Amino acid sequence: MKLELIKYTCARCATSFDAPALGEDAYGEFLLRSKNGEMAYLNAFMDLTYKEVDNLLSSHPKASVLQPLERAKILRRIYGGLACDLDSEMSPFEIDALPLCPSCGSQQMASWEFKNPPEILDVPVSAVTHNCWSMLSDSEKLKLLDARLAIL
Ligand SMILES: [Zn+2]
Repeated sequence: MKLELIKYTCARCATSFDAPALGEDAYGEFLLRSKNGEMAYLNAFMDLTYKEVDNLLSSHPKASVLQPLERAKILRRIYGGLACDLDSEMSPFEIDALPLCPSCGSQQMASWEFKNPPEILDVPVSAVTHNCWSMLSDSEKLKLLDARLAIL
């Protein structure tokens, strides 16, 4: 898929490096990352599990009281670990996770910016899968959600 290079600066060691991301106009699309730096793609309009977790969250006593913006933030934070299969090293994918600093391995970035002019590259990225999630019953899904919300 076509991705755009972003220049990141590591918050821990101040190393600057380039890593791919979706373009600024990618609405409803996400590039998920794991702590191992593996990437996976999600189109939230096409992928029914995103709406499903959103619905579960909306009817959850802990989350239903929140403002929509706040709830959307929580959805982005918990979705990958809840509904998506793990990466090849059994770590969860996360929607807002940043790339790994090539120098120290941190995922905390001090800053990032799109390049001007943009640098586009074609990178093979698999779509997220939901084999584990799809085998769960509704009550098992709710239990998982409860557990996840409890440690937010
Ligand atoms: Zn670093």
